Amino acid sequence: MAATTADRPQPRAQGLRSLLASGRPSFSFEFFPPKTEAGERTLWKAIRRIEPLAPSFVSVTYGAGGSSRDRTVEVTKRIAAETTLRPVAHLTAVGHSVAELRHIIGQYADAGIRDVLALRGDPPGDPKGEWVAHPEGFTQAHELVTLIKELGDFSVGVAAFPERHPRSADWDSDIRHFTAKCRAGADYAITQMFFDVADYLRLRDRLAAAGCATPIIPEIMPATDVRQIRRFAELSDARFPEGLARRLDAARDDPAEGHRIGVEHATAMAERLLAEGAPGLHYITLNRSTATLEIHQNLGIGDGAAGRLATLPR
Ligand code: FAD
Repeated sequence: MAATTADRPQPRAQGLRSLLASGRPSFSFEFFPPKTEAGERTLWKAIRRIEPLAPSFVSVTYGAGGSSRDRTVEVTKRIAAETTLRPVAHLTAVGHSVAELRHIIGQYADAGIRDVLALRGDPPGDPKGEWVAHPEGFTQAHELVTLIKELGDFSVGVAAFPERHPRSADWDSDIRHFTAKCRAGADYAITQMFFDVADYLRLRDRLAAAGCATPIIPEIMPATDVRQIRRFAELSDARFPEGLARRLDAARDDPAEGHRIGVEHATAMAERLLAEGAPGLHYITLNRSTATLEIHQNLGIGDGAAGRLATLPR
């Protein structure tokens, strides 16, 4: 028997766009699609710990290629179907024809998902290698923003770079290309990870000077493990402050101390960002909830979040 409209998942009542316009800081968590069954269990444990806090949204990153891309779609759809969370689906243009992108966006619409983070993506294999467009695909993220907006009433987010995109020749072109994404209809942006609040504030000032009022949500990465964080910072060209690196290096053989330092630094960043009027905080979880929940608890935002967190099982 064919599915009726009543059988289909209903779209989330209110797009992220209006939620961000409410003026209350959003808080959200980022996950990645796991490769193994054990990884899947870890992810769902983190999702279930975060769910009672009623975050503004959770996002799922889009794999660099092949089966990890299908896993992104599956995890995002499962969050929409089985939890009370609002999932934001990351989607990258790299390696896809426009027809494939249309198909994926259609799958999200069918699952009642109305929030997509539109990205260009990096070359698979070597993220710093030459960027080659699919012959029937897109070259820049603003084209994907336009497509998603044409296909339905989606709230669309884009990427922003507090230390400018590593491929941008200079700040002027970086800002010009970012504002093209906003003109194409982007409702908000989430930043690349960064470790110095001044970089975020400078980006915000540059965009304001260019007449761009799109909310820029800062991404918070708890730097608890110096080896791991150096690798991530290198991949994303984020500057890692030497003072923090020295403190984490000194705690190299004491994971609990490293954890404490990372949480302390991220909490201080988050406090300052909110005090400076950032529209929200987007926590990278690496599919583990403990560090991000501690930062969130330190901030004490959300409806009774800190109290509810205290009762959550570890
Ligand atoms: P674009 O906005 O297209 O910009 C890319 C470069 O091209 C910039 O240097 C820009 O200045 C330049 N440019 C733009 N328009 C033009 C133009 N018209 N002419 C000339 N140059 C132009 N990657 C994944 O694979 N999966 C993910 O899930 C994922 N999630 C991310 C989430 C966030 C919050 C962030 C910040 C990044 C994420 N990325 C992800 C990484 C992202 O795909 C890469 O950083 C990519 O290199 C840039 O994507 P973009 O959408 O900013 O591209």
